[in-house]
Amino acid sequence: MNVTIVGGGVAGTLTANYLATRLRDEVRRKEIEITLISDRDKLLYEPGLLYLIFNRLEEKDILRDLKILLDPGVKFVFKRADKIDLENREIRLGDEKLSYDYLVIATGSRIVPEEIPGLTKTGHWFYNLDGAVRLRDEIAKFKGGKIVVSVMGVPHKCPVAPIEVTFLLHDFLKIHGIRKSSEIIYTYPINRVFLMESVSELVQNLFTEKGIETRTFFNPIEVDAEKREVLTLEGERERFDLLISIPPHKGSKVIIDSGISDDGWVPTDRYTLKVKGHDNAFAIGDTTDLPVSKAGSVAHFQAEVVAENISAEIKGLPPTARYFGKAMCFIETSFNEATYIWFDYETQPKFVKPNKFTHWMKIAYNRMFWLTARGVL
Ligand SMILES: Cc1cc2nc3c(=O)[nH]c(=O)nc-3n(C[C@H](O)[C@H](O)[C@H](O)COP(=O)(O)OP(=O)(O)OC[C@H]3O[C@@H](n4cnc5c(N)ncnc54)[C@H](O)[C@@H]3O)c2cc1C
Repeated sequence: MNVTIVGGGVAGTLTANYLATRLRDEVRRKEIEITLISDRDKLLYEPGLLYLIFNRLEEKDILRDLKILLDPGVKFVFKRADKIDLENREIRLGDEKLSYDYLVIATGSRIVPEEIPGLTKTGHWFYNLDGAVRLRDEIAKFKGGKIVVSVMGVPHKCPVAPIEVTFLLHDFLKIHGIRKSSEIIYTYPINRVFLMESVSELVQNLFTEKGIETRTFFNPIEVDAEKREVLTLEGERERFDLLISIPPHKGSKVIIDSGISDDGWVPTDRYTLKVKGHDNAFAIGDTTDLPVSKAGSVAHFQAEVVAENISAEIKGLPPTARYFGKAMCFIETSFNEATYIWFDYETQPKFVKPNKFTHWMKIAYNRMFWLTARGVL
């Protein structure tokens, strides 16, 4: 019997490691094979990109070889999946075809800055490693002026990261004595600064306290590279000296090419995490179409549910684990303080006053992540 996981991000890696732990005896007896297919052989700890752009973490701190993270009970195939055939339970990798008994789709999301004309010419982002390295150098050279932090579409990974980068920029400019000669403008597509109302209120208050301006109902459609302006659907123009964008996101191409959906988000049952209409296929992490944050913590909680249910089915036990929308996010409000939010399908987030202890919890988690990725915690 074969359990195949496609995608070696945090969702796929954790699922593979949890399954290897739960099915240790079956793998040893060669009754079960656990295969992870990924087109990258390294795992990037994306939350670390926020610290990399301010030179507080380096590339070596946030990248690890999958080979050392994966349990020895997992077979790693370093290839791109070209097609997932849910009807015939097959995956095409170039000329090769692999069949599976259970499938976990964990192909994540990707940024598509090319979808906003002009953005790749003059805009910056920190939502992938190359972009973050370029932005780090740009921030280090910044001598004052107008910075626009612009969320250019939802959904996007880590809903709170654009807020955090704005707070940290404020601190960074203060430390370097150029806050007074700079403006920071934060833009968001809807009529407030964050999707969830309670979080929006806290953030808006902190923005006002720190002298950060906001533009809401701001939906960029183009970046004029010559005039250095962002143009919006609403007919506004915002000039910038440095543009930090959160580019639009899409799901993986293989989901679109396989006809699973048009936008790359996989239709997923909100409790069982099964791909709708397919009893032996699951989807987790950023790739699902669920109304939850595209966050590593979500991937973590979902991986536990899927690994528990697949191993239960294989062992002839009742697969009773369910996912209830659980998510947890730290929110760095400065280089010294943070808060956090917990929420699920039923519960709106509540948060504590930003404090030093929560900030240090986040800093500690940045190191502990590598233990969680191995499935140890
Ligand atoms: C700047 C930033 C800060 C963040 N901060 C936080 C935070 O503080 N807390 C938090 O919880 N989350 C945070 N996140 C979000 C978190 O990193 C993502 O939600 C999480 O990484 C999603 O994991 P995933 O495995 O679902 O997807 P991904 O990480 O996108 O992994 C998918 C993998 O599948 C591979 N793949 C795709 N298609 C194929 C194919 N056809 N064949 C083979 N392989 C394929 C990809 O190459 C990739 O390796 C942050 C994200 C960013 C960008």
